Amino acid sequence: MLTSGTLLVAQTDKVRLALDKLVVAYPDLLAGHDAEALHWRDGTVMPVSDDTSSNTLSELLRHASVVDQFRIPYPHGPLEKPPIAGADPGRFRNTAFFTKMYGHCQKGEVLPRLVSFAWLPKTWGKPIRITSVNHVDEHLRAVSAEIDALPEKIKHAAYPVAGTYNCRAVVDTGQPSPHSYGIAIDLNTAHADYWYWQPHAGPITYRNRMPQEIVAIFEKHGFIWGGKWYHYDTMHFEFRPELLVE
Ligand SMILES: [Zn+2]
Repeated sequence: MLTSGTLLVAQTDKVRLALDKLVVAYPDLLAGHDAEALHWRDGTVMPVSDDTSSNTLSELLRHASVVDQFRIPYPHGPLEKPPIAGADPGRFRNTAFFTKMYGHCQKGEVLPRLVSFAWLPKTWGKPIRITSVNHVDEHLRAVSAEIDALPEKIKHAAYPVAGTYNCRAVVDTGQPSPHSYGIAIDLNTAHADYWYWQPHAGPITYRNRMPQEIVAIFEKHGFIWGGKWYHYDTMHFEFRPELLVE
């Protein structure tokens, strides 16, 4: 039987598991955590609340806590069926956490941390810009080298790149886009499917033409894929290693 005590333990476990994953995923910036706060290496103590006041999808997309970020597990491996309604693992982002980590683009804090490198140097070779925080640039460079070695008919979904850094908000939430932190990349729009391009009436019909080989390479290096979202965005990848920690 579940008692309120059991629920409290379950709640505490959920918070601890979430904070453990964050500390494992971001060792450069996070030193550890206690039951109530994340401890950053610069000495900042960031209290983490797991109040359940945000429960609707639209509230969670705007006001997620760092614990809420883990509410919907990110599925490992190839998708077996389209995501169920409302399942957008990774779209809950705590703005304070990501802004602390990568900077606020409108205050000019993100730009100085961006580095440029040639995407798919053997195939396309144009420069793209991505943050160097958390070594995201090195992880993306490894992704680029592996995709570059794929057969042309597969890797064509990965170029030309549609965009990386962009100081803007997410279209349907108004919150800072992961592109505004310099942690996201959009691949070839000609091979992409995006829920927002669909007629807005009626349920969303899932579509995808992104090769699984490309998805698997990104995930191996700490990037999640927007093709695993009900609000699918199949050209979109973003550095979210906390969601890939086993
Ligand atoms: Zn994107």
